[in-house]
Amino acid sequence: MTTATPVDFDALRAEVREYVENEGERWAELIEREHRVPLELWDELRDRGFLRLAAPADYGGAGMQFTRYLELLELFSMSHASLRMIVHVANGIWRPMDSHANDDQRARFIKPAVAGEIKVAFTLTEPGAGSGADIRCSVVREGDTYYLSGEKHLITFGTIADYLMTFARVQGTRGTDGTVALMVPSHGEGIDNREMAGTMGVRGTDHGHIVFDRAPVPVADRFGEEGQGVEIALSGFLGPSRISLATTCVGLAQRALDLALDYAQRRETFGKKIAERQAIAFKLAEMATDLEAARRLVRHAASTWEQTGHAPMEAAMAKLFASEMLQRVTDGALQVHGGLGYWETSPIERVYRDARAQRFEEGTAEIQKTTIARDLFKR
Ligand SMILES: Cc1cc2nc3c(=O)[nH]c(=O)nc-3n(C[C@H](O)[C@H](O)[C@H](O)COP(=O)(O)OP(=O)(O)OC[C@H]3O[C@@H](n4cnc5c(N)ncnc54)[C@H](O)[C@@H]3O)c2cc1C
Repeated sequence: MTTATPVDFDALRAEVREYVENEGERWAELIEREHRVPLELWDELRDRGFLRLAAPADYGGAGMQFTRYLELLELFSMSHASLRMIVHVANGIWRPMDSHANDDQRARFIKPAVAGEIKVAFTLTEPGAGSGADIRCSVVREGDTYYLSGEKHLITFGTIADYLMTFARVQGTRGTDGTVALMVPSHGEGIDNREMAGTMGVRGTDHGHIVFDRAPVPVADRFGEEGQGVEIALSGFLGPSRISLATTCVGLAQRALDLALDYAQRRETFGKKIAERQAIAFKLAEMATDLEAARRLVRHAASTWEQTGHAPMEAAMAKLFASEMLQRVTDGALQVHGGLGYWETSPIERVYRDARAQRFEEGTAEIQKTTIARDLFKR
């Protein structure tokens, strides 16, 4: 695995910042106007090498150290949520596949995904069940083929993806027993895959509602063994993924704080800039402190995971605190903008809407607390 040298990294960080502030803003305007993410944005991000930063060099990635990658992800997160989502998912989806893949699967799925030749959507959530061992989607095996039935929804990039990394269970099993992780072609036989339009934020990103009706999937496209599906979905992936998501909360909160600082120094009422009013200055000071506390917690979780490969409690704490911090900071930033901030013409309006999604992604606060409490009692 190679790592970027410090000099290379500084140049790359400057390039990402420049991209986010210029091209990124132009894409954001187009996405908000048209409510769609053009595939050209994916191509541009891929061609600049931004979608293979975190993957190992052996798979064609840049092999960047996790904590360094997160420094870049924090910058991408200051951009439109759909752009952040592409960078976050593309740089992370190889992990759950890799944890239990064989060489043939690495060649057919992981390397093409890292190269940006195929798109893969993480397909876990179901309308009729809780996420995790409650999975209801099921497979029946006939020879070398599974037949998959059931329903998934809220799946990011679900309709544009080439493959759905789908979690299901062998029919008749319970709990984690019999759960499987499968690579399913997103528009294959027996699959009705439709876009769920009309989100509050993260506009333009497609989210799939997918119904499987005896969809055939080769047994060779199963990662790991029967019984390892939940482990693949939750253990190998969710630690780094939650820490990554927590990083995106820090990045977006920084954007909100920057917007509020700028506005407070421009807006004048009763003959003074509102930044000179203690009520506003203290609010901004509290927001900056909240943000810095989250940043430190997230970096602690990231370095713990980097050093030990295991940080479920730290990851859950980072995700919990950072996503709730993001809510407080974006709310405070909107308040500083006054009524004008509520209008689409103010950049804070989109930041506020986009931020709300991050309390659901990679598990809600309630689920993070369940993980933390379980670890506390274990200790
Ligand atoms: C923008 C966006 C993108 C997403 N992308 C994807 C994706 O790519 N792939 C994917 O698989 N999913 C995706 N999701 C789904 C997301 O992971 C889920 O929304 C989230 O995990 C919550 O699950 P749920 O919506 O089924 O809520 P529910 O499980 O129905 O929960 C409803 C409420 O009850 C609480 N709750 C549920 N169970 C418990 C419990 N046992 N104890 C205490 N409280 C509980 C929850 O915290 C929540 O507050 C996405 C969601 C959003 C908003």
